[in-house]
Amino acid sequence: QAKRNGRDRITWFDTQREQAQTQLTQLIKRMELAMSNNELELFYQPKVNMKTCEVIGVEALLRWRDPERGLVPPGDFLPLIEEHPFSIDVGNWVLDAALKQVNEWRSQGIELPVSVNINALQLLDDEFLDSVSSHLLHYPNVSPKFLEIEVLESAAIGKIKVAAEVLAKCKKMGIAVSLDDFGTGFAALDYLKRLPAQTLKIDQSFVRDMMTDEGDLAIVKGIIGLADAFNFSIIAEGVETEPQGKQLVELGCVLGQGYGIAKPMPANEVLPWLKNWKCPEGWGGYEGG
Ligand code: C2E
Ligand code: MG
Ligand code: MG
Ligand code: MG
Repeated sequence: QAKRNGRDRITWFDTQREQAQTQLTQLIKRMELAMSNNELELFYQPKVNMKTCEVIGVEALLRWRDPERGLVPPGDFLPLIEEHPFSIDVGNWVLDAALKQVNEWRSQGIELPVSVNINALQLLDDEFLDSVSSHLLHYPNVSPKFLEIEVLESAAIGKIKVAAEVLAKCKKMGIAVSLDDFGTGFAALDYLKRLPAQTLKIDQSFVRDMMTDEGDLAIVKGIIGLADAFNFSIIAEGVETEPQGKQLVELGCVLGQGYGIAKPMPANEVLPWLKNWKCPEGWGGYEGG
């Protein structure tokens, strides 16, 4: 279906499209290789209760340890493959790796729930539920209660019925669901009554400037109000400073995640972190208790 322009010249758009296609194919080849060379790795970022200082779980965040480029963040490759079925393979790898880690922690006496990010293609894929349950069956010591999935509200746009069904089944299996980057996805508010999720995750872009930008503060308050009204739990991402945490707690958002608590870290750093973790002063936790 290439558009021909006069003679046999392909247009600029065709060239662009072809180049993008070739780049995607190359990226996928490199990622397949990376997977078989064990270059994919999960980092974990703690989620805490900023009032009690209890650690409530960790979010698994994908990294690519490329021998040449070093540690590559997911933003450099996941968005490029998100519409390609290969991203489902990556998602399955992530699920397995995260559950394996929870299992490992469990065998060391640490019960730590894990949250895994799920992209739209994965969520809406026919095999998603089977895939999740077979991953769980593979780790019989890991209860579904220890798995949470984070989906973008935008993942459901246009497919709200299917998305709602899938999430309902996840919930039935005992898996928690949170709506990630909440407030950025242009989803209609009626999704809130239709999507069976437990938690709204306030996007870090609103948290970042909430202390100085009244508009952002209003959005944060608004999301907390929605969560209350619809009976969702609420968590803030991107908590970088102690005052932000304090303010969030005062507004009724006690759960938080962000550099001010801990940066995402390799799996082997999690237990030492847990041992040393103390709430910042001023968050009113039971320090040392
Ligand atoms: P996300 O799920 O919203 O994850 C939060 C991102 O914010 C992470 O970036 C995290 O490192 C970063 N972050 C956490 N606290 C702070 C903070 O206080 N300040 C700042 N500036 N950033 C903070 P990361 O790890 O680069 O991941 C980016 C996005 O890539 C994630 O956003 C998620 O959408 C996606 N992603 C990561 N891993 C996976 C995965 O395994 N599967 C899928 N489908 N997506 C993933
Ligand atoms: Mg997330
Ligand atoms: Mg997020
Ligand atoms: Mg995000």
